[in-house]
Amino acid sequence: MMFFVYNLSIYSPKNKACKELNYFIVQFNNILIKDECSLHALRCSIETKINEINSAHPKLRPIRYSWNESLMRIDASIKAGSGCPDYLFAMDICRVRSVFQFSEANSQANAISTPGICRICGCTENDPCYHPDHGTCCWDDEEHTICSHCADPHIAGDPGTEHCINSKGGYHEK
Ligand SMILES: [Zn+2]
Ligand SMILES: [Zn+2]
Repeated sequence: MMFFVYNLSIYSPKNKACKELNYFIVQFNNILIKDECSLHALRCSIETKINEINSAHPKLRPIRYSWNESLMRIDASIKAGSGCPDYLFAMDICRVRSVFQFSEANSQANAISTPGICRICGCTENDPCYHPDHGTCCWDDEEHTICSHCADPHIAGDPGTEHCINSKGGYHEK
């Protein structure tokens, strides 16, 4: 499964440590991440960099690294004296559902589906769809490229169906 950094918001630096982090983080904007292992490595290298910056500036307020699994967001903040923390950056990552590619062989452009991600709604085993009567979705094909809640037109068309409950459920306000 591949991932993509589709949004990187960088906020104005509060001090020299933040400036250093911003300089480091900007290189990751709009990058394609090849697999889960690479995503893990990316998270680790950002966390390591933040720890390095914190120990190089012991008198400044420490930068806090955070990873939100269900939103697939990495961010860094500084705890403000009171109230909400000051954010330094927020990096939003999404799963690449399929690759659209032109093929010389059949002179056609095709979307190549990725096994493990529904080609219609983008749900996965950890981020399924939900319907009040049918429960969570399961795979409808052997290749695992379409889920049961997209394959069945009645469930797909039902307004009670909620796709990708973990990534979309908490993200969009109802
Ligand atoms: Zn689906
Ligand atoms: Zn689904």
